[in-house]
Amino acid sequence: GEPVLDTDFVHRWLTAAAAAISREAARLTDLDSAIGDADHGSNMQRGFTAVTAALEKEPPDSPGAALILAGRQLISKVGGASGPLYGTLLRRAGKALGDAEQVTLQELAGALRTGVEAVAQLGGSAPGDKTMLDALVPAVEALATDGGSFEAASEAADKGALATVPMLARKGRASYLGERSIGHQDPGATSSALLFAAFEEVAR
Ligand code: ADP
Ligand code: MG
Ligand code: MG
Repeated sequence: GEPVLDTDFVHRWLTAAAAAISREAARLTDLDSAIGDADHGSNMQRGFTAVTAALEKEPPDSPGAALILAGRQLISKVGGASGPLYGTLLRRAGKALGDAEQVTLQELAGALRTGVEAVAQLGGSAPGDKTMLDALVPAVEALATDGGSFEAASEAADKGALATVPMLARKGRASYLGERSIGHQDPGATSSALLFAAFEEVAR
């Protein structure tokens, strides 16, 4: 039947995401060294370490509260562009869920879509600009579609991240490189794919 998504599910997702980011931090930083300033892995690791610490210290009592807590940590602990952007994603998604103790997959998908729209607004960016949105937008659409699943969303995020390779960066530091940004995978799209892989992992 329809999976029940509760506070524990969101907690396990954030913990799995933190572990995946730790494992892949060197790769994220390598990608950022090609078209940015070589800090995306360390930025994400610092942020998600703070997220897991905050979850232990003040356990949230709803999925929405867990997302808001995580978003606040990312905004306050990550100096780079990715902190406010991912922080806004999680905070807005959490707000959209309100204080419900359990949510459906479709409710979570709708909340994440609201969060992704807030990222686009804050970043002044859209799919095709070679950013995290190139993974986030197709992933959320795959989740929100009728019969959507975490597996399909994770696959869409991976595809979206890979599709950034031939793109010309129009936003963020990579855009300073102009044509030289072509041929490299966007670090933020890559970390977004890790976040959706973590959903698939905990939903299994
Ligand atoms: P910084 O670029 O400040 O060092 P990070 O390296 O942590 O921050 O994050 C870089 C990533 O942030 C990029 O790979 C891209 O995916 C994302 N990003 C940067 N600017 C924007 C934007 N305006 N809109 C959406 N995503 C962006
Ligand atoms: Mg960087
Ligand atoms: Mg930086």
